[in-house]
Amino acid sequence: VSFEQLWAETLPIGLSDVVPGYHRLFGSRADWELREWFVDTAQRRGFSVEEDRVGNQWAWLGDPDDAASRNRPSLVLGSHLDSVPAGGAFDGALGVVSAFAAVDELRDAGQAPVGALGIVAFVEEEGSRFGITCAGSRVLTGSLDADHALGLRDIDGITLAESLTTLGRNPKTFGPDPDALRRIGTYIELHIEQGRALDPAGRSIAVGSAIRPYGRWRLTIDGQANHAGTTQLEDRDDPMLKLAQVITTARQAAAARGCVATIGKLDIEPNAINAIPSRVTAWLDARGPQSHLVKELAAEVGDLTGVLALEESFTHRERFDADLASTLSTLLDGAPILETGAGHDAGSLAAAGIRTAMLFVRNPTGVSHSPTESIEHADCIEGVHGLAKVIAALDS
Ligand SMILES: [Zn+2]
Repeated sequence: VSFEQLWAETLPIGLSDVVPGYHRLFGSRADWELREWFVDTAQRRGFSVEEDRVGNQWAWLGDPDDAASRNRPSLVLGSHLDSVPAGGAFDGALGVVSAFAAVDELRDAGQAPVGALGIVAFVEEEGSRFGITCAGSRVLTGSLDADHALGLRDIDGITLAESLTTLGRNPKTFGPDPDALRRIGTYIELHIEQGRALDPAGRSIAVGSAIRPYGRWRLTIDGQANHAGTTQLEDRDDPMLKLAQVITTARQAAAARGCVATIGKLDIEPNAINAIPSRVTAWLDARGPQSHLVKELAAEVGDLTGVLALEESFTHRERFDADLASTLSTLLDGAPILETGAGHDAGSLAAAGIRTAMLFVRNPTGVSHSPTESIEHADCIEGVHGLAKVIAALDS
């Protein structure tokens, strides 16, 4: 009952009546409503709530500092509440809602958590506003430089520092937070499956073993703005032609290496129907089985098209704790153990040496980062049961 209620509370937030899907971008009204929902939901259950130096939200039962000082740092569950533009309801929110629902389930069964227990919601996980994925967890651990992050600009030219000020936060205290990290003994993130491995296997839950290497590059192509009606074809310097070459080259370079490559975001100047653009900026997202293959792919796009591919972020394979993964698999009736091609805050924490695992809940179509992403209700409930089992087994 608790899951249904919590889910129903988050479901309307960030839904647009103008365009399809969920719009829960960092600092937006929807993002702020979800943050308020987090505070409310936590406090109603007796959690204390605080923000770290980045703005990630933490709900705590018990005293995590006391537990850490006794060398028993706590179990933390969570995920993120932001979305890509026109995203689905599940990516992110499911992990946070399920964590609260799992605590409710245990309490209803008379098994309140014994040790300190945390639930976290990381900010700007999708990087949809400032361009760097998992920015909240990466600044927290120090793998993304705080000053660099503060200078990042959104599509309107607003810096992250300016947006923090607007949101009533102080950019001067923004940065890594070792005190927040010290409290985490184990981090477990439940997430909608992205891809489609569980449905054919007839399983509702998988355990994540690693995140495949991935990177983002920015490509700027200059041309000459001119009139779409009066400029002869031979007189044009049209950056869109070069863009077409970049897109097909990226596809071929990815296919040749067993990787994937996507150009899904463009900034076109002046972006008018009747004008040849003066400049096009494209973002390349590439991922694959090995770091060197992904980097070669991006370099080849640059070499073959003559357009410089500027690396904005790169993340090597991040392995979750293998012993913990096998413990969770056993606990969840032999749940399959899978790698994923999607980035997660769990990866940032694993890279910082924290014992980390992920649980994936079956996505029957595999569609994600889309309004049509979905999960069967029964599988959502399986996910909550799974987390409750995990808390009961790992909570000290
Ligand atoms: Zn996500």
